[in-house]
Amino acid sequence: MEPKELYDSYSKGLTLFEIYKNLVEKYGEERATKETQRISRELLVEEAKRDRYIFEKIFVQKYRDYHIENKDLILSHIEWMINFLKDLESLNTRPSVELSHHRCRLGRILKYRKFKDILLDRNVRILHENLHTLAKEIYESLQNRDYISALLNYAKCVKTSHSLINLLSIENLRLVHRVNYDPLTGLLNRRRLLRVLSDIVDLSESTGNPFVLAIIDIDNFKQINDTYGHLVGDCILKEVANIMRKSFRKSDYLFRYGGEEFLVIMPSTTLEEGLKALERFRKNVEEHEFSLDDQRCPKVTVSIGVCGSFEKHEDIQDYIECADKKLYEAKRSGKNKVVWWLPEKVRTL
Ligand code: GH3
Ligand code: MG
Ligand code: MG
Repeated sequence: MEPKELYDSYSKGLTLFEIYKNLVEKYGEERATKETQRISRELLVEEAKRDRYIFEKIFVQKYRDYHIENKDLILSHIEWMINFLKDLESLNTRPSVELSHHRCRLGRILKYRKFKDILLDRNVRILHENLHTLAKEIYESLQNRDYISALLNYAKCVKTSHSLINLLSIENLRLVHRVNYDPLTGLLNRRRLLRVLSDIVDLSESTGNPFVLAIIDIDNFKQINDTYGHLVGDCILKEVANIMRKSFRKSDYLFRYGGEEFLVIMPSTTLEEGLKALERFRKNVEEHEFSLDDQRCPKVTVSIGVCGSFEKHEDIQDYIECADKKLYEAKRSGKNKVVWWLPEKVRTL
């Protein structure tokens, strides 16, 4: 394959290993290794150039004009990345950036700043440290002229950097933008959902931390509305949102997903922990006395469908769809329950 062809197949998703295998068939191992090294070096330079453009032209602009609390952290990280990318572009083996994660600008700020949210705090530190470890390895590979390893670590490095920036900014989005909230319940609205979910999925892939997503739907809500009226219906929606706030952790993302549907994303949570929290929430709703001025209180229950990193999905929308399927299963099989599995598909001829 010609360099141009190799470059195109890499950007079309062929892995370096697959490219190498093709080359082995054609030229034998020794030449294939040489060729893969050469193409990796070219790819590294090209990718670093392209990514530096994104950091300089898009990120700097976006975060410089953005009034958010963690702006100084994000900008100092972006500045570090730009200099790092410049080194890679020129295959500079002598780092012009600070390699110690304690001594770079972001590291020095992190020494004195603790985030209120413990999980956010921990994840920011993990990602930042990982980023520096990867960068050190990349410089080492460059020194050894091992461009294959450099390129493989480079992909991880950029992903980690994006996760870090996302993490620092989603926390802010949660604090800053009123438009992202549902006025009735005060929970996040659907506008923000895909953005938050994609950040959590990226974070989970870079740190290996699991996450759980669940869709919650109030049972027989139409009937409650019809019997008690819409105002009572609205009060119930508000109360259910309050029970959610009490039942889940501060670091969980709570959404009003639709009319009487809610959605929760629990980062850094295993399926077991997630199910425990969801079951506790389901019970809290079931046992809650809805106080509606003198009116007789309707019994309220919820059905819940669960998905998360315990099931890998290519498209992030599929996490929502999968939770929705299980919600349907919860409704079908009697309501007021949490479902995280699907019955075996019935085979029909
Ligand atoms: P199921 O147990 O299968 O979920 O039945 P359901 O009656 O809860 O579901 P269905 O989708 O048939 O009805 C949902 C109802 O929720 C219909 C709509 O009137 C009501 N609803 C949606 N949004 C609001 C709202 O903002 N306020 C009030 N009061 N009702 C709402
Ligand atoms: Mg519904
Ligand atoms: Mg319903």
